[in-house]
Amino acid sequence: MSNAAILSDAFTSSPYWWDAAPRIPMKDGAWPSHADAVVVGSGVTGLHAALHLARGGREVVVLEAEQAGCGASTRNNGTIVPFLYLKQYQLERRFGKEVGRAIAMTAIQAISYMLNFCEQEGIDCAIKEYDRYFLALSERHMAALSESVSLQRQGGIVTDWQPIGPDRLTDETGFTGFSGGVYVPRSLGCHPGLYHSGLLQRCLDAGVRIIDGTRVTATRANANGFDVSSSNGQISTRDVVWGTNGYTGPEFNWANERLMPVPIHMAATDPLPPDVLASVFPTPRAFIDSKTNITWVRLSPDGTRALVGGRGGMRVGSPENNARIMHADMARLIPALASAKISHVWSGQCAFSFDNVPHFGQVDGMYYALGYCGVGMTIGSWLGKRIADRILGVSTDEPNPYDGRTLPVPPMQIDPHVAFRLGISLVNARDWWESRGYRAMRREQGLT
Ligand SMILES: Cc1cc2nc3c(=O)[nH]c(=O)nc-3n(C[C@H](O)[C@H](O)[C@H](O)COP(=O)(O)OP(=O)(O)OC[C@H]3O[C@@H](n4cnc5c(N)ncnc54)[C@H](O)[C@@H]3O)c2cc1C
Repeated sequence: MSNAAILSDAFTSSPYWWDAAPRIPMKDGAWPSHADAVVVGSGVTGLHAALHLARGGREVVVLEAEQAGCGASTRNNGTIVPFLYLKQYQLERRFGKEVGRAIAMTAIQAISYMLNFCEQEGIDCAIKEYDRYFLALSERHMAALSESVSLQRQGGIVTDWQPIGPDRLTDETGFTGFSGGVYVPRSLGCHPGLYHSGLLQRCLDAGVRIIDGTRVTATRANANGFDVSSSNGQISTRDVVWGTNGYTGPEFNWANERLMPVPIHMAATDPLPPDVLASVFPTPRAFIDSKTNITWVRLSPDGTRALVGGRGGMRVGSPENNARIMHADMARLIPALASAKISHVWSGQCAFSFDNVPHFGQVDGMYYALGYCGVGMTIGSWLGKRIADRILGVSTDEPNPYDGRTLPVPPMQIDPHVAFRLGISLVNARDWWESRGYRAMRREQGLT
């Protein structure tokens, strides 16, 4: 298809979420030479830590290399998911039943935390219920989805997820060509831009000093804590918190050497015509395919557009090229969206740990929470709060199975970037092979 057939007249490479929640420059002021806590990064992890520290009486400075909140926290899909990156059977195989279940439960604890937080703070970020469908691209994928749901139910982690056959899937969605799927009623989604803006405002109201355009370049321990050097000056502080996830660099080299940074891509369509909306989204809906490197499509919170995402790890080149790929993926998954034009396209960085679960802890006296493996909006919020609790000495009876687990080093000390390129090539090759039947069918329908 030509660019004219795919790109909207309003095409932009700015995230769709920033239309309603634009990035705002932080006010300049005198450089603070001292703080009780310096938080590096102004995404949900950093800001939840900063907010609760400030409310606990600490003087907090957040240093942000770019604009406030311009990382993955305002670029994501806004799904509030009761699961992490690994499926339940993978968690239990890797960590054993007990720890696997405890890790899975943190996704549920994190949802409660985020929902309560938004309610108590009066943050309106369009949280609403969606019918979510996982779409199985092969019989094998269907078996894996069913096994995962069965283990989640046994563990009491989710109770209402339903594996469904291809006929029921077609009845409910009109979609054909899948080997069935999993239906998740009352699944939650939000507007991540508005969530972040609300959080940012609460931080400012609580007296957190947020300094944008300021990259932390080094930290050095001293007798009372740390000297934090940045592109704009130095601050001495008692505590340092790293909330840099997919944007972690050599300034925090311990984590940098243990994380694989992964770009993930998204696009929004122009507002859809009423007949397309009625056929694909008769209710607020979200769809995810069953590949490891997933493609997803959801209805925008205002009920007018499709949002599509995926292609973890892909090097996109130009925004126009990214849009073409997102459009093709969307049309292949949901042919009824093939005539929709792309209005926004953007990308964000995630961080994958080598055991594929989030990490939280302390190293060289500094705190961190990161490695969310693409699912960090809720868990990052919750772990940010947990860091503040730890620093303030607030005890909680909520279990935290991430506590005490160290961020694993790459196997054979391989460079994380190289490990990632190897890993993603294998994942993509396996996805390609396992979904060949589905692709062939769509090709026959003229969708490449
Ligand atoms: C396309 C996409 C879709 C996603 N969809 C979902 C989803 O639907 N649900 C979900 O739960 N999760 C999702 N995620 C993941 C989620 O967005 C992230 O896990 C989460 O936002 C991480 O938040 P954070 O605060 O830890 O990091 P970020 O929001 O990425 O913020 C890190 C910040 O640190 C700053 N920084 C880095 N180094 C320095 C330095 N040296 N000095 C100063 N500042 C620095 C960066 O500039 C950045 O602003 C998605 C991610 C992407 C990219």
